[in-house]
Amino acid sequence: MRVLSIVGARPQFIKHAVIQRKLREYGISEVLLHTGQHFDLNMSEIFFESLSLTPPQIHLQTPLASSLSQLSYMLGSMQERLEGESFDYVLVYGDTTSTLAGSLFAKENGFALAHIEAGLRSYDHSMPEERNRVICDHLSDILFAPNSNALQNLQKEGVRGEVVVSGDIMEEGFSLFLPMAQKPLNVQIPSKFIFCTLHRQSNVDDKERLESLLQGLDEVSKQIPIILPLHPRTQKNIQSFSLSLPSSLIVLPPQGYLQTLWLISHSQMVFTDSGGVQKEASYGGKKCLVLREVSEWVELVESGACELLGERSIPRAYEEIKNQTLSWDKKPLNVSDRIIQSLLKHSSCTAMGEE
Ligand code: UDP
Repeated sequence: MRVLSIVGARPQFIKHAVIQRKLREYGISEVLLHTGQHFDLNMSEIFFESLSLTPPQIHLQTPLASSLSQLSYMLGSMQERLEGESFDYVLVYGDTTSTLAGSLFAKENGFALAHIEAGLRSYDHSMPEERNRVICDHLSDILFAPNSNALQNLQKEGVRGEVVVSGDIMEEGFSLFLPMAQKPLNVQIPSKFIFCTLHRQSNVDDKERLESLLQGLDEVSKQIPIILPLHPRTQKNIQSFSLSLPSSLIVLPPQGYLQTLWLISHSQMVFTDSGGVQKEASYGGKKCLVLREVSEWVELVESGACELLGERSIPRAYEEIKNQTLSWDKKPLNVSDRIIQSLLKHSSCTAMGEE
């Protein structure tokens, strides 16, 4: 079996680090393509080094641009760089422009498409992530749903591909990499703190929204320190809106995954608008305030692990949840194994058969 794996953004490097180990274990041949959507040391290279990912054979060096221009660039470059190649599967993750480009490329060239983290929905089509995941799910031949809510969403929509409830690949990644977690260097970490991330377009592309979130964080940080690794998009918007970061916040550059796991697991609580971080908080037994009005991870909200900010201010929501605690139900996971076994079953060839 020959697989083309397409990654381009931080959470995809993390998810693929788990899958790539399994591909190697099964002796499956892989071409890894990095679109370059995230490109610098802190948002890309660090993950390849620390999670032992093999360097990509193909790097598209996608320039910074609007998502539609990036999509068109990625498609053109994929077509050019992969001309004459053949794959049993194109493997894509999540909901980014790279996911959409990989999906369209696969179908244009008649390759089977496999989507990991399929079936998540916010039902908000103003979000580019929602549009990307819906299109990708409807094009996919095999869809790996992380849970039964995602399965139900896909069944309701009548997707044509085969759906496999695989479990959440990030939960396996969390268990796999947590024992390797590393304390960030060169920064004084207080004994108690809130870990916070903020980068979603709906929060940081609007000046008033961003300003009010920063004010909310400033107020809470008078009670308990807040550590905020700053996403490049948030940093750029703070500058372009002429806002300033409250000096009360402990602001760090984007962290590697092993450092992020350390910070989450040593925090008192997590504030985030990230999909991945809200799951990692709950996997680590930390209460999480989701800085959004909806979450695609419905079961985390229903179980009380995550609390939606909704229309409240951050300080008010914090007051309401600050004494709540969670436990972490650590269980052995074989999500990546289930995914690879399903690919092998779904494919007409076996792992070594056509090599
Ligand atoms: N993450 C990281 N460094 C950081 C912030 C986040 O390694 O400074 C990790 C985090 O642990 C999670 C992933 O990046 O696994 C989430 O990525 P992001 O928030 O960019 O995207 P989303 O999950 O919202 O798609």
